[in-house]
Amino acid sequence: MGVRYCPDTLWRVPFATMYQTKIASILRIFCKKAYICTLNLNGMFSSASELWKGFVNLFYPNLCFCCTTDLKYGEQYICGHCLYDLPVTGFYRERGNPVEQMFWGRVLVEYATANYFYKKGNRIQTLIHQVKYHGQKEIGEFLGREMGKNLRASAFAEVDMVVPVPLHPEKFRKRGYNQSEWIAAGVCKEIDKPLDTRTLVRRHAADSQTRRKRYERWENVMAGFGLTVPDALSGKHVLLIDDVITTGATLEACIHALQYTADTKVSVATLAIASS
Ligand SMILES: [Zn+2]
Repeated sequence: MGVRYCPDTLWRVPFATMYQTKIASILRIFCKKAYICTLNLNGMFSSASELWKGFVNLFYPNLCFCCTTDLKYGEQYICGHCLYDLPVTGFYRERGNPVEQMFWGRVLVEYATANYFYKKGNRIQTLIHQVKYHGQKEIGEFLGREMGKNLRASAFAEVDMVVPVPLHPEKFRKRGYNQSEWIAAGVCKEIDKPLDTRTLVRRHAADSQTRRKRYERWENVMAGFGLTVPDALSGKHVLLIDDVITTGATLEACIHALQYTADTKVSVATLAIASS
């Protein structure tokens, strides 16, 4: 590059230009080195965190709860293969499905579904067993989200709120959590509706023992649930959530309680339906 000379200050311009160029180039090199150094440090930190993860994994391996193979990056609780193979029912898009039929002639239900088939020895039985008896409540939320992904594009998304079937207080004390509440929390995240765990409550067993004799046995079951505020759900459409539906008696009792006021609509979604 040519140097231009000023006629008045013959030497100053070329020298100043030279220094400016040098300083600029030194600054450029410094910045580049500082940038590379930051990248290396980031790399070192991320390698250290990967190393730590690997170390922890040696003692607490992250395994699939169904088939015990190592989980890959991005997989949670269940490997992709097992998740894909879960026995889904597809009932949420089928009017008059077997879950809806269970309530026919018993109680009025808007929509009803169960997301998976529950059979002795199948993957869903293994997972629900983990949720209920091995403290793995997060799997309940995970499966609830899987169900919610189906429900959000269906008629079930019309509901105003999600209510889990309350656990018997004695069982709650023993387990420390209500599995249906965790499943419901997962559903709420996907369909973007509020979770209500306060309005529907389970009455103590003592209540049913002190029933008058003229009540039939099923009436005692029906009396097992109640509302904290009787007209709290007036004009609302409630989505009732449970883990497994077998005879539907518990859900029927909950629905009776929820429909304390005639203008409350109820739909039902359970994680699974027991089948032989
Ligand atoms: Zn697996």
